[in-house]
This record gives sequence, C-alpha cells and structure tokens, in this order.
Amino acid sequence: MTGPKICVVGACNIDLISYVERLPVLGETLHGKKFSMGFGGKGANQAVMAAKLGGEVAMVGKLGRDVFGENTLANFKKLGVNVSHVHFTEEAFSGVAPIAVDDNGANSIIIVTGASDLLSAEEIRAAENAIAKSKVLVCQLEIPMEQNLEALRIARKNNVPTIFNPAPARPGLPDELYQLSDIFCPNESETEILTGMPVETMEQAEQAAKALLERGPKTVILTLGERGCLLVDANGARHIPTRKVEAIDTTGAGDCFVGSLAFFLAAGKSLEDAINRANKIAAVSVCGQGTQSSFPGASELDPEIL
Ligand code: ATP
Repeated sequence: MTGPKICVVGACNIDLISYVERLPVLGETLHGKKFSMGFGGKGANQAVMAAKLGGEVAMVGKLGRDVFGENTLANFKKLGVNVSHVHFTEEAFSGVAPIAVDDNGANSIIIVTGASDLLSAEEIRAAENAIAKSKVLVCQLEIPMEQNLEALRIARKNNVPTIFNPAPARPGLPDELYQLSDIFCPNESETEILTGMPVETMEQAEQAAKALLERGPKTVILTLGERGCLLVDANGARHIPTRKVEAIDTTGAGDCFVGSLAFFLAAGKSLEDAINRANKIAAVSVCGQGTQSSFPGASELDPEIL
C-alpha cells in the first residue's frame, strides 16, 4: 500500500448484539430473537475508515488471546491495516460491548475495555517509528490517559499533527492533552460534558467550542450531526454545513467522520476541504446499518469526494 500514512492509537471492541422484545428487568432471564456481532472500538473504527478510503494505516492497540482478538486481527488484515503494533495479552479478554436492543430500538450497553486497558506506555514508545512516519496521529479516550499523552508527545516531538477525539467524554481532562491536540474533535454531547455549557444553538456551540480552544488545541472541530460541523481556530468560527440525509442508523457516524478527516488531512487537503469531504462520507454512513459495516469504501464513493 502507498496511500496517505495515518497512525491510530486506541481501542478495539467486539459488539455482541442481542435483539429482544423488551429489555430484561433485574434478575430476569429472557430469550432473544436474534444475535449478531460487529467490529467496534473507536480506535479500530477510525483506523478501518481511513483504510477503506485507501489510507496506509498503522493501528496501535491491544487484544486478548481469544476468538474476538483473532477476528479483530483478521478484519484489520483483510482491510490492509498494518498490525505490527497490535499486541496480545493473556491477562484480559479483548474489549467487548454486550448490547441488548428491544423492539422499539431502545438499548442497554455494557462496555468492558479489557485488553485495551493493558496497552502500556512501552508499547506506545515502541510505535514511535510508526507515529513519526505518519502524516496524522489519531487518538480517543478508550485507552488509559497516560498512554494517550505518550502517543501525543511522540507525535509533537516528531512534528506529526494530531487529531484528538475525546470520546467517550469525561470532565477534567489534563491541560497537556488539550495542548498536544492540534485538532480537538468532539461531538455535541461530549462538548457539553467537557465544558458544562449547553450546545443546542449555533451561538451556544460557538461559545463552547471557543472555551475548548482556550484550553490549548490549535483547532476545534465540533461535529453537529445533520448540521455538519463548527470549525473554530485563531481566525474565528466557521459553520461548515452538510447536506442532511434521512438517517437509518447513526452509530459510528462520529468515527466515520474522524477516520475520513484523518485520511484527507494525511492526503494533503486543506482543513475546510477535508471537513467537507468527511461530512459527505459520514452522511453516507448514517444511511447504512451497523458501525464499520456502514462505512463506505473508496470504490463505493463518487470519485469527486476522494
Ligand atoms: P455517533 O455517536 O452516532 O457515532 P456522533 O454523535 O459522534 O455520532 P455526529 O456529530 O452525530 O457524531 O455526526 C458526525 C458527522 O456525521 C456529522 O458531523 C455529519 O458530517 C454526519 N452526519 C450525522 N448525521 C447526519 C445526517 N442526518 N445527515 C447528514 N450528515 C450527518
């Protein structure tokens, strides 16, 4: 492969989805109607999206020595993701997300990050070459904080731009994390959690994004679902709208956006151009079922988007 180089540090999970008439109550055993499995984990999703567009993607993560780990590895290999820095542990199972979905589409989800929690700082440092030769590093909040910081420090040392996707969000992120993020890319609810500010109107979104910018990133890209994105940097705020589509399943839209953004920036597109293209690809993904299964590959897209 010789596409734009991207390194993703983050978690891999397997979604274990049971479809039930209704969610069980405490202590109850229910028969489900259907079961399916899906590849997930924000790191894995973003890596797969960038690879599907033709990126030369290196994944840094950790799996358990179990069937989920083997399947995840096989999925990466099938999609051409470099797995030299995907480690295995005997100490924990691979990350899993058992999910129950009822007839009304309501769900309950348990995420057990498992092996991803055991990704060590040494393993991050061992990936320095992969980070240094990338055009973009992408991280999220599903691995331990210190390991994220280590990856971001290595990128800064090697002048590699970083995209930080603060998901799933929790308040009180360290100052250094913001300062090491060239692009800080949350969605609306993550922005509310991080700032304690409402994000409903465009004005509110702008105020909250500016509050995040003051913490140290060079750029904030706030994803706004069907409204597209808000880009905020030293030049001010610009709304980058998208063409709204009737969504079937928005699961993974944020990961599709971040993986696509990383690809287009690594390919040398300008920030606004990359956002416009990532908006278009995320819109395609919300029209399909599932997470990675809804991410379009390069051959399925209008060549003008690429
Ligand atoms: P999720 O948590 O469902 O994975 P998210 O909340 O992290 O997604 P959103 O901000 O909802 O992320 O959506 C990410 C991007 O997906 C948006 O910036 C936009 O480009 C695209 N998008 C989402 N919903 C729509 C829609 N209905 N029409 C067009 N584009 C959409």
